[in-house]
Amino acid sequence: MFQFPGDPTTPGIASTPNLPDSKRVSPVESEQLPKIPVTPISYADASPILEHLGGPPSPREWQGALPFTYHVGPGPAKVKMHLKQDYQFRTIWDVIGKVKGTSSPDEWVVAGNHRDAWVYGAVDPNSGTAAMLESVHGLGELLKSGWKPKRTIVIGSWDAEEEGLIGSTEWGEDHAQELGNAAAYFNMDVAVSGKKFGASGVPSLKEFIREIAKAVPSPQGGTVYESWKKTSEPSAESHRSQETSTFRPPPAATHNDVPVGDLGSGSDYTVFLQHLGVPSTDVSSTGDYGVYHSVFDNFAWFKKFGDPDFRYEQQMARVYGLEVIRMSSADVLPYDYENYGREILVYLDAAKSKSKERFGDKVPDFSAALEGARHLQEAGTKILQKQRKMPTAPDRLNAKLREAERALLIPEGLPNRPWFHHAIYAPGQYTGYAAVVIPGVNEAIDRGDLRRTEQQIAALAAALNRTALVLEQYR
Ligand SMILES: [Zn+2]
Repeated sequence: MFQFPGDPTTPGIASTPNLPDSKRVSPVESEQLPKIPVTPISYADASPILEHLGGPPSPREWQGALPFTYHVGPGPAKVKMHLKQDYQFRTIWDVIGKVKGTSSPDEWVVAGNHRDAWVYGAVDPNSGTAAMLESVHGLGELLKSGWKPKRTIVIGSWDAEEEGLIGSTEWGEDHAQELGNAAAYFNMDVAVSGKKFGASGVPSLKEFIREIAKAVPSPQGGTVYESWKKTSEPSAESHRSQETSTFRPPPAATHNDVPVGDLGSGSDYTVFLQHLGVPSTDVSSTGDYGVYHSVFDNFAWFKKFGDPDFRYEQQMARVYGLEVIRMSSADVLPYDYENYGREILVYLDAAKSKSKERFGDKVPDFSAALEGARHLQEAGTKILQKQRKMPTAPDRLNAKLREAERALLIPEGLPNRPWFHHAIYAPGQYTGYAAVVIPGVNEAIDRGDLRRTEQQIAALAAALNRTALVLEQYR
């Protein structure tokens, strides 16, 4: 996912069976396919190679658990590696279910989880798929009882996530137009690997997730929110951040409440949020999960360690199902733009201090972006009052609320990564799955590029003011 996720031969467009070959980039020319052959190997195969490397010792953090000092080479040992690269086009399958909305059928609430796994994938992704199917079961019961959603519910079981978010990305690109109107995308993936509830989301939906956690019972007694609060207290912090760091970047500390993380990448919300600007969330219940992406992520592990009596599966089905039900039935969309502005101010303060370290007395002027974030926060405060008053005909209010997240998209995309449009969130280019917030600005600072930092502050300020103006247009 260096440049864009999905089919490496169809950047920005849907890879459908009838797409003419002339529209595809050949695999040899795709920017997305690595040019250096790479293969994962086991420690048993790796140790004789590592043991016979000379040169200087490796940096401390590269030293692993094998009982000798790691060196970085080159040589003197030589390794001959035979790799078979099986380049072929293969068919993948997304399975889509829909429940048509009554009053706003063109406004979609999308919920998804991938279905493919590296091996057995009991946790990743099947703990998510099981919980998702149980939510769907619940929706079916509700429909039988006569309940109907106002907005259209779309449930997606994505294929080929592990190879680069291919199923969700291609589906998202194929439905870009309809998704321009979507109210939310709810993701699950590694849904249950233990007992600690956690969530990530755009700031406008963080309070929405907390409210849902207050409505769902926890297998530990009380509500999910209460046990979430216990495990997110400072004493629990070091343990928690250590074991979930692969999945959850640290959240912005604007609230004296349970922390909801920021969305980076490594799962299927990427196309929805970062390419199309659909407000998104990701929820999970995590624990010690050393079998991630290995053959040992299997049913025996799940039964013995993950969730022996499947009660956390029930919890996640309820959380996920309630997200879908509340969003598809809300009279007024429950977005909080005041909090969005407030979080961006925190991101900007951090970027400003970092830029002082980087550029010294030539520190760029952040005032336009800070002003933009305050503008968004104020517009958010005003529109929250209108949301709480619940107008009798809320269509226009809802339309402005939906349009606001799209106004955070930068039309030309991020520098060198035009597929990524979101001004506030992107996967980091060098941080793996973790999010980089206000990525244009932060990555320009990291490169020590003063001119680009200034350009990106201006682009961010424009996006923030654009978003605030959209909210202010509602009177
Ligand atoms: Zn997964």
